[in-house]
Amino acid sequence: MPSHSRPGAKDNDLRGAAQREHEADLRDNLVKMREQLLQLRENDIASREDIILATQKMQASLESHISKLRQANENLVIATLNTQTMADQVKEVRDQMSHMAHHDFLTGLPNRKLLEERLTQAIAHAKRHNTRLAVLFIDLDRFKIINDSLGHATGDALLQSVAQRLLGSVRESDTISRQGGDEFVALLPEVADENAVALLADKICKTVSANYLLAGQELRIGATIGISMYPEDGIDAEALIRNADVAMYHGKKTTGSNYSFFEPEMTLRAIERQRIEAELYRALAHQEFELHYQAQVELLTGRIVGVEALIRWHHPELGFLLPDAFISIAEDCGAIVPIGRWVLRQACQQTITWLNAGLAVPVIAVNISAIEFMRSNFMENVRAILLDTGLEPQHLAFEVTESVLMKNAQATMNVLQELKRMGIKIAIDDFGTGYSSLSYLQRFPVDTLKIDQSFVAGILADGADDNILINSVVGLGHSLGHRVIAEGIETPEQLKFLVDHLCLEGQGNYLSKPLVADEFSALLRTRLHTTAENPSETRDTRLQ
Ligand code: C2E
Ligand code: CA
Ligand code: CA
Repeated sequence: MPSHSRPGAKDNDLRGAAQREHEADLRDNLVKMREQLLQLRENDIASREDIILATQKMQASLESHISKLRQANENLVIATLNTQTMADQVKEVRDQMSHMAHHDFLTGLPNRKLLEERLTQAIAHAKRHNTRLAVLFIDLDRFKIINDSLGHATGDALLQSVAQRLLGSVRESDTISRQGGDEFVALLPEVADENAVALLADKICKTVSANYLLAGQELRIGATIGISMYPEDGIDAEALIRNADVAMYHGKKTTGSNYSFFEPEMTLRAIERQRIEAELYRALAHQEFELHYQAQVELLTGRIVGVEALIRWHHPELGFLLPDAFISIAEDCGAIVPIGRWVLRQACQQTITWLNAGLAVPVIAVNISAIEFMRSNFMENVRAILLDTGLEPQHLAFEVTESVLMKNAQATMNVLQELKRMGIKIAIDDFGTGYSSLSYLQRFPVDTLKIDQSFVAGILADGADDNILINSVVGLGHSLGHRVIAEGIETPEQLKFLVDHLCLEGQGNYLSKPLVADEFSALLRTRLHTTAENPSETRDTRLQ
């Protein structure tokens, strides 16, 4: 046991050395640990700095992101605003286009398309509620003449005024549309009965025909209305408009009344009209027209003083057509202008042929329609045809109806004076049937009045009343200093009556029917022959 001896001191020493060694170890360890701790701390600091740095980076990138986002957002807002403005503009343009597609440019009224849409809606409504509605087809009378003679600007202004008057004469719930040209359609979605529609149609006619003051001149125009009713006259928009149109045409051509209700028989006539209209130009190109010539005769002597050219149509399927079957259609569609030119040229050429053959034809009379007469280049055409054919103007006469001359008196006066200066004669056709202003009758440079055949037909057939009438018409003609020709003389009694009442010239089937050119040449020859042989013959003035 080492603790009981000196070795005990030695033990103490040994213990002390071990202790010291141990303490040294501890210290070393402590130092190491401290170093490690320091290291750790340093590491920690470094990593914290890393974190801070990283955080700062993230912060910066976040801010950059945010700024980018903000920029993007701003761009988006601007883009959205731009898109909105563009959308507004597009909508505006689209609205304008839609308005243009649905309205008439000249008058601002709904056009054909919008009318059809509204009519279709109105029909659906009427069907659901078991009610009726009316469609009025309104066509202006003589618009073409005004447009051609006074110019398109005046024509346009007139259409605008008419549109305003039409709007003023219907209810707000009604639609007035312009179909094109001088045609308007009114849709009356709520009507009680035909009487109410008739009253309104009458009111519209009166309103439209009141005087217009345009560009300093007074104008008058009439209107003809055709009426179709739902459901009787059609169950869709197309049928109702078409049948109102048919009724209007019928009114214009047949009855002459201001308004007419549709009736099913009218359709057949309308189809016929359409067919003829389509074929008029072909007829011209294929030379299907022909002129017939009717003598104008001095009643006491039987001398031929003139000849009237009358048009006929050899229709390949419909056969031989008289002018009443197609002239008014040609006037409506404008074909009368080239047809009239053909007639004039043909008549002039034929007269030259007769004159060259030594057959005396003092004057050839050509019928001129209002449409031709009022056209601005009418005189130019006449001059060109005279020049081409070589006919002297004094051999030519124009027959124009009374109503044409009177309705456009001022414009007519200029044309008449021009014709007069050239030496072309003027006859007022169908005299006595229209209304005439005496003052114009006196002032117009007219040569001849043609007493309408209705007066002649009345002679002795019907008692004294008509005889008074024809007496006064002949008297009026003479007192104005014009030549007077009676038309449509069919009997010797009529001839005698006219001669007794000092009507010295006449035309009619009793004297000579309208003849083809060769027949008329033969007539001229025999006439020359017989009058030369029997210069004193006065009683039987028939030309056989
Ligand atoms: P309008 O100018 O009054 O012509 C006279 C019409 O009476 C002609 O009819 C003639 O054939 C007919 N007529 C002649 N004598 C008699 C008779 O004794 N009794 C009866 N009942 N009638 C007779 P048309 O040829 O049928 O012509 C009818 C109308 O057509 C003409 O009436 C005229 O207004 C028009 N017309 C004829 N040719 C032309 C033309 O080339 N151009 C134009 N724009 N119109 C024409
Ligand atoms: Ca005539
Ligand atoms: Ca006549």
